[in-house]
Formats: sequence, structure tokens, C-alpha cells
Amino acid sequence: THQEQHNKHHFFKIILIGDSSVGKSNLLSRFCCNKFTLESSSTIGINFTNKTLKINNNQITAQIWDTSGHTKARAITDAYYRGAKAALLVYDVTKHITFVNIQKWLVDLRNHADPNMVVMLVGNKVDVRQPVVVSSEVGKSFAEKESMCFYETSALRGTNVEKVFMDVVDKLYSNQV
Ligand code: GDP
Ligand code: MG
Repeated sequence: THQEQHNKHHFFKIILIGDSSVGKSNLLSRFCCNKFTLESSSTIGINFTNKTLKINNNQITAQIWDTSGHTKARAITDAYYRGAKAALLVYDVTKHITFVNIQKWLVDLRNHADPNMVVMLVGNKVDVRQPVVVSSEVGKSFAEKESMCFYETSALRGTNVEKVFMDVVDKLYSNQV
């Protein structure tokens, strides 16, 4: 009923995936606390941050999971993927290998995750413009080929960070109602 819809509390688990140093932790801290750190502090194991949002007067908790992308940790535990409704697949637009490896992360994701998962391809560090190693066109057409949404972001400047997370939450919300 109308009444029930208004009082629902939605909970969405969203995971961050991608190579080490692409900016996953900074995308999360930019979105959650408007914070950015210059020095890289590699995430130890797995952690998550809750962000509370409102859509149409409904309370949403986005629980965003972060992990280190070190090769040793590549066999990410099932716990990381379990219950995840969306994934942000992040690469660094200034490091080609991180884009190449997206293919591997996608395989991981499709092996572990819910097939209905919302997946966004995110090219981070667009503030670094010399030289453009992975162009927007290349990123965009790969995303289209794999049925993913595509965003280019800068955790440093804040470009598109709010947008990509809000788009994920909007999509998850409209899938539910
Ligand atoms: P993670 O290993 O994927 O979690 O990457 P981090 O968030 O730890 O970031 C790795 C390094 O890249 C750090 O030195 C960050 O300051 C830097 N970094 C992250 N995002 C950006 C960005 O959007 N622009 C620039 N120029 N540097 C970034
Ligand atoms: Mg990290």
C-alpha cells in the first residue's frame, strides 16, 4: 500500500572492485565524507561504510564495501560478493593495465555475483590529463558491449562521484518498487 511504501527502509550492499591504487577507497571516502587523501593507504582486508540517503521520503542505507586489490587478495571471499546488489568496477584512466584487468574482474564478478546485479564501469582520475591512456570512447564502448553503465570520475576533484553512487542507488531503488 501507499502507507507501506512510505515507511520502507531499503538496504543495498554495493561493492567496489578493481586493481590496487585505482582510487576505490578515495571514491568511497569522497562520497561518504567528502574526504580525499593524497597518500595511498592500502586497505587492509575488507571493510564497509554505511551512507544513509533519502529517495521519495524513503530511507535508504547504502552499505559500500571496499577491499584492497592486491594480487594476493584476488581470490576475494564469497563474503565480499554475498548479497551485493551492485558493483562499481573501477580502473585508472592513466594506467592501461587497470583497464585491461577489468575483464578479469568482470569474470570474477560474474562467477560470484547475482546475475541481476547493477554494474557500473568507472574510469577514475580524469583530473590527470597528460596523457590520456584510456580514452572515454574506449571505456564507453567496452561498457556498452558488457551492458554496464559508464562514468568517468575524479575522487580528487569530486567529479561525478556523487552522480555515480546516486545513479546506482536510484537504479536499485527503482528495481525494488
Ligand atoms: P585503491 O587502492 O583503489 O583504494 O586506491 P586509493 O583510493 O588508495 O588511491 C590510490 C592513489 O591514487 C592515492 O595516492 C590517491 O591519492 C590517488 N587517487 C585516487 N583517486 C584519485 C583521483 O581521482 N585523481 C588523482 N589525481 N589521484 C587519485
Ligand atoms: Mg583501497
